[in-house]
Amino acid sequence: MNLLEHEAKSLLSTYRVTVPRGSILSPLDTPPPAPIVLKSQVHTGGRGKAGGVRVVRAGEDATAVAEELFGLAIKGERPSVVLAEEVLNIAHEYYFSVVVNRADGCIDIIAHHEGGVEVETQHDFKRWSVQYSKWRPEAERIGQELADYYSLPTKTFALQDLVENLLHCFAKEDVTLLEINPLVITSEGGLVAGDCKMTLDDDALYRHKDRVVSESPANTNFVTLDTSGSVATIANGAGLAMATVDAVKSAGLSPANFLDVGGGATVASMVASFRQIAAFPQVSAIIINIFGGIVRCDEVARAIIAAREQVEGLPELYIRLTGTNSDIAETLLKEVGLTLYPTLDTCIEEVCHA
Ligand code: GDP
Ligand code: MN
Repeated sequence: MNLLEHEAKSLLSTYRVTVPRGSILSPLDTPPPAPIVLKSQVHTGGRGKAGGVRVVRAGEDATAVAEELFGLAIKGERPSVVLAEEVLNIAHEYYFSVVVNRADGCIDIIAHHEGGVEVETQHDFKRWSVQYSKWRPEAERIGQELADYYSLPTKTFALQDLVENLLHCFAKEDVTLLEINPLVITSEGGLVAGDCKMTLDDDALYRHKDRVVSESPANTNFVTLDTSGSVATIANGAGLAMATVDAVKSAGLSPANFLDVGGGATVASMVASFRQIAAFPQVSAIIINIFGGIVRCDEVARAIIAAREQVEGLPELYIRLTGTNSDIAETLLKEVGLTLYPTLDTCIEEVCHA
C-alpha cells in the first residue's frame, strides 16, 4: 500500500523526523494565506514536473491555486485532498531512501548529494546495506558517513539522528520503501523532509490496524487494495467495510479499495470518496453498503445523489442501505434512476451480471 505524502509525513513525525508544518484541505476548504506551498495528494511521483506542487507567493490567490490542483489529474489521478505547507527556504536538496533488498534479505540505504525532481538523471548513488537485526548499532556510522558524503560536517549529529529515526520507522512500521526526496537543508540550517513516499508491506497490515484508520481526515479511511481492481467499495464502520471487500472477493470480483466513511456519510465525504474512486481506471462498479443507525438512510441517499452530480465519469452505483428511513431513501434514489438493493448479495449479483 502506498501512502499519500501527508500520511507518510505524519507517520514520520511520530518518529521525530522534521517535516514542514502543514494542514490538509478538502475541496471546499479555504487555504491558509500565502506564502504557502500547495501540494496535490496523489499516489504517483513526479508531481513537481506535472504542476502538482505550487509555491504560492504573498499576494497571490491560494484559493484559485487550490482549485486548479483539485481539477488537475496527474497520471489519471485527481487528488481528494491538497496539502498546504509552510514554504521552505531551500539551500540544497539531497536524496535519501531506504528499501528492502529482497535478493540479500537486508535493508539498503541509498543517497545522492543532488536530490530533487531531476534525481532520475543522476548516477553514482551512495549505498549502504544493513541487516534487519543490526540497524541500530549501524545507524551512527552510516549517519557519520552520510554527513561526509553530503559534505555537511556540521550536520553529523542531525544526520545520525535522522538515519536512526528513519530506520526505526522503516523496521517498526513494516515499510518496504521510504524515500525522502528532497531531503532539504534550509537557509536557516534545518534538516527537513521536503517530500516523502512510503510503501507499506500489505502482508503486514494486520499488525498496524490502528494506523490505517487514523490518517486521511477528508476521507476517513481509504485504503487502495488494487489499482487495477474492477469493483470499488464504500461502507460505514470498519467491520462492514471489511465484510464488503471480502464478499466482493468471494464472488470472484477484484476489489479496488477498502473504504470506511465512518458515521458521517456526508456530501463532502461522498464527494471525496467518489473522487478517489473515479481515479481508478479499471473500476466499473461502486458498491455502497451502509447501515443507517446513527446516520439516517435518507441523509445518506441525499449525500450520494448530491455527490454523484459533482464527480464526472463515475462508474455505476450499486446501493444497499438499510436502517432508519430506508423507505424514504429508496424513493429519493428512485427519483434519480438509482436502485436500492435489499442485501449486499443482491448488489454483488447485479454487478456480476452487468
Ligand atoms: P514530487 O515532484 O512529486 O516528488 O514532489 P516534491 O514534494 O518532491 O516537490 C517537487 C519540488 O518542488 C521539490 O524538489 C522542490 O524543488 C519544490 N518544492 C517543494 N516544496 C517546496 C518549498 O517549500 N519551497 C520551495 N522553494 N520549493 C519547494
Ligand atoms: Mn519528491
